[in-house]
Amino acid sequence: MSSYEAEFNSVTDEVRAHERWFSQSLPMIASENLASEPVRKVLSSDLGHRYAEGWPGERVYAGCKYIDQIELRAIALGKKLFRAEHLDVRPVSGVNANLAVYSALTSAGDMMMATSVPNGGHISHGKKDFGGTAGLVHSLEVSYFAFDKEAMNIDVDATKKRIAALPSLKLAMFGCSLFLFPHPVRELAQAIHDKGGSVCYDAAHVAGLIAGGEFQDPLREGAQVMTMSTHKVLFGPQGGAIASTAELAEPLKKAVFPGTTSSHHLNNVAAKAMVFAEFLQFGQKYAKDVIANAQTLAGRLAELGEKVLGEKNGYTMSHQVALDVMKYTDGGVIEKRLEDQNIICNREPIPGDLQAGRHYMNPGGIRLGVSELTRLGMGRSEMKEVAELVHLGLGGAKKQEVVGRIKELRKGFQKVKYSFRDTPAYSFG
Ligand SMILES: *Cc1c(COP(=O)(O)O)cnc(C)c1O
Repeated sequence: MSSYEAEFNSVTDEVRAHERWFSQSLPMIASENLASEPVRKVLSSDLGHRYAEGWPGERVYAGCKYIDQIELRAIALGKKLFRAEHLDVRPVSGVNANLAVYSALTSAGDMMMATSVPNGGHISHGKKDFGGTAGLVHSLEVSYFAFDKEAMNIDVDATKKRIAALPSLKLAMFGCSLFLFPHPVRELAQAIHDKGGSVCYDAAHVAGLIAGGEFQDPLREGAQVMTMSTHKVLFGPQGGAIASTAELAEPLKKAVFPGTTSSHHLNNVAAKAMVFAEFLQFGQKYAKDVIANAQTLAGRLAELGEKVLGEKNGYTMSHQVALDVMKYTDGGVIEKRLEDQNIICNREPIPGDLQAGRHYMNPGGIRLGVSELTRLGMGRSEMKEVAELVHLGLGGAKKQEVVGRIKELRKGFQKVKYSFRDTPAYSFG
């Protein structure tokens, strides 16, 4: 065997090892999920080799007879799912979708309002100084929503004052990454519109909760456009999408192509269509179960003495639970400690980190997500066991105990639920 063939084979061995590891772990990264086997299969189809460019029926490439049908089906299902007048499945990621919105609705130097990263915001809404997409790539100025740390949400009155004091405001970006409670879109949309600003809602994390009718409904609350990732609570392939009013359809379409994409990953478009159909059928129940699981996990962790953020409002109304772990050590060390025990989650900046001199490598918290465990079929009794395992892991319990209990727990949870039939979660082989 040539050494290149050995390298070639090593990759598939590593993928197998990864799947084996994850099948015996607690995958709790809040931005991740599992796609069903038929969806994963379509990702490996011939569509992944093709180009289309442009809107169905107006393509730049030949060979799109079936691709157009698939994309039109994805659009129709997505419009229904999000009750949107316009939907675009071409953005290849959530950041790519945000960049298209910036391109359609703003010019360099305009002011955008968003949540700061230490308060849970996403780097794609960030300032140039921090490498944020809005500032670095689209030259936007960014000012921040006022934030209430106790409520773990945007402070409406203080933000209204900030908006009034701005010389101008072109865009407000709701939505964030540490996202426990619905954002006050309804309460702030008028003040933003009065200033001449558009309202966008970044549903990267919560698109699945919104589709399930469980979190909030930004397009009915004053947002004109909503961007999303298709792989967080929405359990699809890695990708992005944009939903909007009919009025913004044309500028947004141009901003997606030719503005910010060329090829648009047609295998993903097909997978998105399938996931939208799964979600129309099972999304309502899934979203309810996800939130109930997060609330059960948060409640049990608090009973065990962990410092769960958002206590004032019942810890969480989403798929996420946030913990302040400073009583142990910082979030960076804890992330590694838990990974070593097969609990996979993120360290997380929490409010107050900057003032305390902590940054993204050693923030004060961790974020736990339950979307993937829910898709594997776990319910409230499993969440109580998960809370105990996380609690043990945090305290640095004997590794073998935690690892062994997780392996035992996972024995009954190896299939993907909330789909037209249960399929294996790990089938690379
Ligand atoms: C995850 C996330 C994104 C990025 O999405 P990708 O699909 O990874 O590009 C954008 N915005 C927010 C708020 C996010 O949490």
